[in-house]
Amino acid sequence: MQDCIFCRIVNREIPADVVYEDEHLLAFKDINPVAPVHLLFIPKRHIPTLFDLQDGDERLLGLLQKAAVQVARDLGLEERGFRLVTNCQEDGGQYVFHVHYHLLAGRELNWPPG
Ligand code: C5P
Repeated sequence: MQDCIFCRIVNREIPADVVYEDEHLLAFKDINPVAPVHLLFIPKRHIPTLFDLQDGDERLLGLLQKAAVQVARDLGLEERGFRLVTNCQEDGGQYVFHVHYHLLAGRELNWPPG
């Protein structure tokens, strides 16, 4: 999608600090980090929200979680852990309408979120 900022990152039309890439997924550093580690994991395919997932996307989301765990391991987060969260629609706090998962780590995170 031409007007989707994350599609433009996938297409390398705007820069991002990429930390992981494969055929289906891209992960990059959030430009406005709220934790010492703040990464975004996205499918390369444009999916606006979780409500737009299709049959068969179970595998895509499973691969995304596995990639997040791999990156977390590579960053040495196995001992202290991390949070992997996604926001859906307005009340969920979704600002960019291309499905993405935040990987947050490096400090003790509060629960419940605000
Ligand atoms: O879940 P939500 O849609 O609110 O999060 C979008 C995230 O995308 C924000 O954390 C924002 O900082 C990040 N972002 C980014 N690079 C951009 C635009 C937004 O990392 N070019």
